[in-house]
Amino acid sequence: PAAETLLDVRGLRGGYGRIEVLRGVDLQVARGEMVALLGSNGAGKTTFNHTLCGLMKPWAGSVRFNGVELGGAHYREVVRAGLIQVPEGRKIFPNLSVMENLELGSFTRARARRAQNLEKVFGIFPRLKERTAQLAGTMSGGEQQMLAIGRGLMAEPELLILDEPSLGLSPLLVEEMFALIGRLRGEGLAILLVEQNVGQALEMADRAYVIENGSMRFSGRPEELLNSDALRRAYLGV
Ligand code: ATP
Repeated sequence: PAAETLLDVRGLRGGYGRIEVLRGVDLQVARGEMVALLGSNGAGKTTFNHTLCGLMKPWAGSVRFNGVELGGAHYREVVRAGLIQVPEGRKIFPNLSVMENLELGSFTRARARRAQNLEKVFGIFPRLKERTAQLAGTMSGGEQQMLAIGRGLMAEPELLILDEPSLGLSPLLVEEMFALIGRLRGEGLAILLVEQNVGQALEMADRAYVIENGSMRFSGRPEELLNSDALRRAYLGV
């Protein structure tokens, strides 16, 4: 549905030096939609994210967001537009406090509403409120992941990209993480979920893509993927 398309990626190519990793990738996210991006190790998920978010220059193709071309734009411009990435590996600033990390989330966007967004984030993550002065690097793995998401929310995302949010979390925390993602989505936030945790990602997503060797091999409804033995074997390894 073209009218509600929020993110429209077409023919995106990119890579490192002379090595092409993304071989013409298409991906769309509609307003309020939750989309899962799946793919095995080395498939190109991180490269796609980085190229999307202005951390790497695309070689070709377009990234339209809210009707504005962002392909090749600086990272800051991408953030300003509301395309907010929560990086994998909980890349928070370990030597800054929880509060400082959250404040940095609104450095580029939504700075004027920092106080109210802080309250909102504390409402979602009471643990962060209890620990504002703690050095982020001393938080537990799960807490750091919450902080990374909280920092992303501080920028009032229009599209939140979550890169492997369940990575390294215990089963209980994985449950909590997916519950939280469901809650954000319930509030109408568009989410692009990059996950290895295929089962839960597909359970929640409106649509899914599978990337392999830098090309999209599947796009469609999660049921299509789950109900086809051939597709499951080819792309999900089950
Ligand atoms: P994972 O799930 O393991 O993180 P991924 O899907 O995110 O995998 P990418 O990290 O995007 O995959 O890697 C895609 C390809 O690009 C791989 O073949 C990888 O070796 C290559 N690659 C990644 N970073 C670099 C780099 N800095 N220089 C050269 N090649 C790279």
